[in-house]
Amino acid sequence: MKTRSFISYLSHALKSLVCLVLLCQFATNYVCAQSSQTTVIKAGKVIVGDGTTMNSASIIIEGDKISLIGATASIETPLGATVVDLPNHTVLPGLMDMHTHINSSDHDGGDMSVLREHGAHGAIYGVVNADKTLQAGFTTIRNAGALHYADVALRDLIDQGIVPGPRMYVAAASLGITGGHSDVNGWSHLIDIPGTGMVVDGAENLQKAVRTLVKFGADHIKIVATGGILSSGDAVDHPQYSDEELRAVVEEADRLGRKVIAHAHGAEGLKAAVRAGVASIEHGSLIDAEGIELMKEKGAFIVPTLLILDEIIEFGEEQGIPDYSIQKAIEMSGLRKKAMRKAYQEGVRFAFGTDASGNLHGRNAQEFKVMIETLGATPMQVIQNATSDAADLLGILDQAGTLEAGKWADIIAVPGNPLENITLLETVDFVMKAGQIYKHLDN
Ligand SMILES: [Zn+2]
Repeated sequence: MKTRSFISYLSHALKSLVCLVLLCQFATNYVCAQSSQTTVIKAGKVIVGDGTTMNSASIIIEGDKISLIGATASIETPLGATVVDLPNHTVLPGLMDMHTHINSSDHDGGDMSVLREHGAHGAIYGVVNADKTLQAGFTTIRNAGALHYADVALRDLIDQGIVPGPRMYVAAASLGITGGHSDVNGWSHLIDIPGTGMVVDGAENLQKAVRTLVKFGADHIKIVATGGILSSGDAVDHPQYSDEELRAVVEEADRLGRKVIAHAHGAEGLKAAVRAGVASIEHGSLIDAEGIELMKEKGAFIVPTLLILDEIIEFGEEQGIPDYSIQKAIEMSGLRKKAMRKAYQEGVRFAFGTDASGNLHGRNAQEFKVMIETLGATPMQVIQNATSDAADLLGILDQAGTLEAGKWADIIAVPGNPLENITLLETVDFVMKAGQIYKHLDN
């Protein structure tokens, strides 16, 4: 009796095992079928990302890459391919935001959030914000500071397909001086408040900090070269960090194959960072003539983050942003417009970036209109700033930033023509990342 029941148990277990093997086999085939899937996008119009356009064009996607792009009339649809018909849409490369804080909360109340929340909160906000960002058509982001490696974790889980989100390039924590923009100031010295970034002084300590950030997953290093808006007690036009400290960061990052991005509003701190060899200036609000020449000479980018300043002025109070931050934003607003327009018009390279934080996640594309108005840019220029220029800044132009055969299939579509109305980029109907469709609204 005992033996028989054991045999029946054994045969049952064996059957289950066979089922499991078959299921695994099926799952493997399914995954294979997914990744070798062929899709054809038939577009009314294509903005390639390099300044050119095509009418009635088709894009063939195999697996995670574009295999062919050309006139629809000349391309035969491969047998069994999924066809996405977008005759009234403009198809573009996935957009790229070069300055996000993807792990920030909806109402972060300026630099006071560190008193209430920590990395676990950031990780959860990040999952929500990453989805919003991808759904808005941003298939790549460069994160410019997060605490407790929440951005590193999010990047890795997106890469593993566990949560949806854009491709992420992350800084982990920003590096800033004692009493600077990455510190929390204005409180008693008896209270030990953690910074909004990593507070590090001195060339030697900075060298170690760069190594530490890289060890734990940073793709680039963010350094704070001047005062900021969302910090108390530091003036936006005062440099933070000495030339020696800036050089130490850039040299160490360079040795480890990482670019440095520098937060800078004031002209002196901006120039010091550019001289030290940073890849991009974040904000760049008060750039002067010498700074413009220096940036052109070095090929450094400005990531302008224009919309957020307007929003701090307009909605800061209701979002709980402290009054000193709102005052700083108001004081800088007029000067910034003049300085940045000059930089743009005189040929400094720009890459699109929003400083997405607070409730800006998913509204990133609203920055385009502000760029056109503030910088005197054309719609085509700002689209390039958010595609090929951004890819160039990241060092991935050979894989992204334009719609070309061999590049990643990161593709979006908007109804109508954004070259005639840039705000159409705020209503993205179709999102593909690495050949996988994440959004497809039928319009
Ligand atoms: Zn920022």
